[in-house]
Amino acid sequence: MKAGLVYDPIYLEHDTGDHVENARRLVDAISYLNETGIKEKLTCLCARPASLEELEMVHAPEYICYVKSKAEKGGGWLDPDTVMSPKSYEAAVYAAGGVMAAVDAVMKRDVDNAFALVRPPGHHAVQSRAMGFCIFNNVAIAAKFALSKFSLNRVLIADFDVHHGNGTQDAFYADPRVLYFSAHQYPFYPGTGWMDETGTGEGEGTTVNFPMSAGWGDEEYLRAFNEVLVPLARRFQPERILVSAGFDAHWADQLAMMRVSITSFAQMSMILKELAAELCQGRLVFTLEGGYNLRVVAASTKAIFDVLLGNSEIDDPLGKASTARKPQGFDEHIEKIKGIHRLEGT
Ligand SMILES: [Zn+2]
Repeated sequence: MKAGLVYDPIYLEHDTGDHVENARRLVDAISYLNETGIKEKLTCLCARPASLEELEMVHAPEYICYVKSKAEKGGGWLDPDTVMSPKSYEAAVYAAGGVMAAVDAVMKRDVDNAFALVRPPGHHAVQSRAMGFCIFNNVAIAAKFALSKFSLNRVLIADFDVHHGNGTQDAFYADPRVLYFSAHQYPFYPGTGWMDETGTGEGEGTTVNFPMSAGWGDEEYLRAFNEVLVPLARRFQPERILVSAGFDAHWADQLAMMRVSITSFAQMSMILKELAAELCQGRLVFTLEGGYNLRVVAASTKAIFDVLLGNSEIDDPLGKASTARKPQGFDEHIEKIKGIHRLEGT
């Protein structure tokens, strides 16, 4: 298997100081890929800047101008969580372009699959506003790009970042061409993503939210994937799968309260890889969203590349969450979600 890596030093120039979403997340991940010897097995893909037209597939022209001029004036806060430095506009433009470069390479068969290690992350960014450390919605722009450039009709976006990808949901809420599946802690930032948010108009049914109670972990995530995402993906028949990969559902992440292990991130990625093989000639692109424990981000990134390369051994240097606690109420919860999406008896 040929797995592509998108990375560019410009991503480090989005200087957020000692903010949790900082350049060390990528510096440490890249060093770890080097130290473990896996980087030399990857095919490096060049990031490129997104064009204005491409950004405008998701964002309002006035908002893009505002971000650009703010960078030119030295940066500052875009919202209470999202800070910019002078180079942040360029980094954000390359982050969106990096995911599109990965889509392009997978579509042209330069690589079998790819993981874009970009920042700033994207899935909270909405049409006219930055939110939650995100400036432009990289995965939404890449999905629009896949639909338009390659004349696709159906794209699946799977999002296992611990936060609900409200921006991605918004971008495709009325769009039947994109099946958006998100598993996330709820209630939690940004407040959206309850199971009854299922899309609107022609897009009714193509938004699938799997809220998770604080404290749930490996077993619950894998059941959500196997019992809800897999049958819905088979029903939808995507021509391309994009993944918003955040590692903040890990038990050691300091921002959230879920109990997922690196092994489970790899297993979820394996499920997605198998779905891609079954439904869309293996065409699969991951992009980095959140994840704030540096060791977790580095080791999870490596684990996903192991999955993409087809390596059977997955290293999990942090192991499973320490105390085994029986989750409450999961069975009824998943049945409700299956009911909403008419998955009874599957
Ligand atoms: Zn997150």
